Amino acid sequence: MCDRLRKVIAVKRWLVLGLICLQLLSSCSFTNRAIAAGKTLTVATEPTFPPFEFQSANGELQGFDIDLMNALASSAGFKVKYQNMPFAGMIPALQAQTVDAAVAAMAITAERVKTISFSRPYFKSGVAIATRTDNKNITNFDSLKNKIIGVQIGTTGALKAKGIPGAEIRTFNDSPLTLQALLNGNVDAVLNDRVVILYGIKSGNLRKLKVIGDLLTEEFYGIPTPKGSPSLHAINQGLATVLKNGTYAQIYQKWFGTQPPQLPEKSSIENQTTEKGVSRLFTSLSIILKSIPALLSGTLVTLELTALSVVLGIIGGSLIGIVRLQAAPPLRFCARAYVEFFRGTPLLVQIFMIYFGLPALAQNSGFTFTLNRLAAAVIALSLNSAAYIAEIVRAGIQSIDRGQTEAAQALGLSSVQTMRYAIFPQALRRILPPLGNQFISLLKDTSLVAVIGFEELFRKGQLIVAENYRSFEIYFTVALVYLFLTLLCSQAFACWERSLNPEEEESSRKKS
Ligand code: GLN
Repeated sequence: MCDRLRKVIAVKRWLVLGLICLQLLSSCSFTNRAIAAGKTLTVATEPTFPPFEFQSANGELQGFDIDLMNALASSAGFKVKYQNMPFAGMIPALQAQTVDAAVAAMAITAERVKTISFSRPYFKSGVAIATRTDNKNITNFDSLKNKIIGVQIGTTGALKAKGIPGAEIRTFNDSPLTLQALLNGNVDAVLNDRVVILYGIKSGNLRKLKVIGDLLTEEFYGIPTPKGSPSLHAINQGLATVLKNGTYAQIYQKWFGTQPPQLPEKSSIENQTTEKGVSRLFTSLSIILKSIPALLSGTLVTLELTALSVVLGIIGGSLIGIVRLQAAPPLRFCARAYVEFFRGTPLLVQIFMIYFGLPALAQNSGFTFTLNRLAAAVIALSLNSAAYIAEIVRAGIQSIDRGQTEAAQALGLSSVQTMRYAIFPQALRRILPPLGNQFISLLKDTSLVAVIGFEELFRKGQLIVAENYRSFEIYFTVALVYLFLTLLCSQAFACWERSLNPEEEESSRKKS
């Protein structure tokens, strides 16, 4: 009897649990159908794309897209919280559902609808060519052949540039950097959204640039959301309302000074459904395999960059380290100032200063000066690593007992000979482990030069993700390649250390 009672109670418990699960599931499916009124949507944007999204002097977000998003949100009854992120990171963020939508002058394209869903079109746009006013060679798309073209990573401009025969394409992280590279003379032309270039020219910031010829593409901007997102319906509803009640026309008038053109109700590029399970796994594998040749070519560039910078860094660093120990006080002070500056400022800022800042400064002072990307990258990396290596060398030399110098000098060695034959060989054993660490840091730091469009390993990965939006698969492969390289590096340094250690060498000789 007692057993039966216990069984009944257990069954009842399971029933209650089942009911609670059902309840939870049904509430989930409800929230899947529509978003609750008053809900806050997290919306990604990149405020470097005026007049669509940019920041005012006091840091306030503004632009056509921002006004439109705010207006449609209030008519659809939801709130918006903006989250800044790079344009190329938005589609991965939407896929991962870390944001609910994005407002970023994003064109509806056949490739993008494979991974995200777009709202109805809200703006008619297109890509155009920008070049410097003094450039007479570039007159149309065909004249871009064999030229150096600057594009923003992951944009429709970048896609269009791929079709230019013989062109060398340089990718930058955002539109202002791309246009700055054009102003500096680092690229011959830029492909970007025409409205954005024209706005920059009109506002006086890009006075030395002009737009060439007709639009190269016709595209419509849409508001992207994750696939199957409940927010899409609310966004479309809000858009329909502001288009109908004249708010859209008012916002358009405010930013462009004219009446808006007629917009289609639906894009000719339809949203698609996502692939799941085995098929996704299969595509992931084939994407990794396909990306390997491009990643390997990036790896070679990374190695070349590391080798050049490490050699120059060791030469420069050793000289500075010795100056810090032995030169006259003014020189010692300069060496110390150098170390403090390059160690105390971020490498990224140094790269920007050298590649974008120096040519801009020279041009403002009336000189024409452009810096080749490889030169800029190697200069920045070696100047930075020289500062660290100088400290490693200084500490290594200082750690050798003074008695060694005295003994060498008592034997009649000059100070250069003392350094060469007595101090340095001993210091090298102490310098090697931190030098190995510095080498590994430098190898990883080369990924920072991606910002100047250098196509090393990380940038190659970014470029692949900008095309196929498979961020996890690609970045994981990139990480594995870096890991392989750094492991190789630490093995090589460990061998070198062992070969300099007389005790270990002795014991390994005995063993053999
Ligand atoms: N309209 C372009 C695209 O969709 C660029 C957008 C942007 O850079 N914010 O690719």
